[in-house]
Amino acid sequence: MKLPKNFQFDFQQKRVLVTGAGKGIGREIAAMLHGFNAQVVALSRTQSDLQSLKEEINCETIIAELSEPDAARQAAEQAGEIDFLVNNAAIAILEPFLKTTVEAWDKTMAVNLRSVMIVSQVITKQMIKRGIAGSIVNVSSMAALHALHDHAAYCASKAGLDQLTAVMAVELGQHGIRVNSVNPTVVLTEMGKRAWSDPIKSGPMLARIPLRRFAECEDIASVVCFLLTDGASMLNGLALRVDGGFLVT
Ligand code: NDP
Repeated sequence: MKLPKNFQFDFQQKRVLVTGAGKGIGREIAAMLHGFNAQVVALSRTQSDLQSLKEEINCETIIAELSEPDAARQAAEQAGEIDFLVNNAAIAILEPFLKTTVEAWDKTMAVNLRSVMIVSQVITKQMIKRGIAGSIVNVSSMAALHALHDHAAYCASKAGLDQLTAVMAVELGQHGIRVNSVNPTVVLTEMGKRAWSDPIKSGPMLARIPLRRFAECEDIASVVCFLLTDGASMLNGLALRVDGGFLVT
């Protein structure tokens, strides 16, 4: 039997750029990748988060505000030669549809969708130039597939992200570059707590998850790591639900 190369989650000599690595799911992804021997390049916008992460996992750090197109492009260029990319940074501004503001809509799209396009363009151009069969994981959400109250801009941005993932998969496949999304259910990070700490709201959601729990950051990070390995070498263009079975009920 021929074991798939890299199936043991060994990212030795791989440089991985993780956006939104300062907190929550992105921080866990960065830490797990480091645990699997990757050299992590952590991008976020709060200096103290990146400083403490650097002390923990000896990563390279880049401070950038991804809603600014030039800053996003420069940050991706600063990252240098990258083998794997995890587009994780996002914001959630909760507003009922009838009160959704243009400002919140534009900011959400700028961070959750446009910055992924900009950062991925820079990184994939250098992957192609170097002949690297890289892999990209976009952290989407079940909100791309399931409508949620007060999440008009967020849901639209994540549905857009899944389709951006699909188009990137179609166009970059010829270069050996795979692009997938993961679509987590609720994770009680700072972002998750803002939307789901009220049991009246979270109760029905939780009750619909066959595993009867929300996800932990580790549940998402391990799937992201898997998608980056050669064990996932035929997975491309997926929107992979990490939801404990929520959407099949
Ligand atoms: P958090 O808010 O806990 O962390 C987000 C990280 O991204 C922070 O480090 C934040 O930096 C950074 N970030 C946000 N905006 C920008 C920006 N404009 N420029 C640079 N960095 C930025 O979020 P989560 O960990 O919960 O979410 C991570 C991903 O998972 C997101 O894509 C989210 O949509 C997705 N997701 C989350 C779910 C949940 O329930 N938590 C469920 C499904 C998907 P700073 O703190 O400095 O702003």
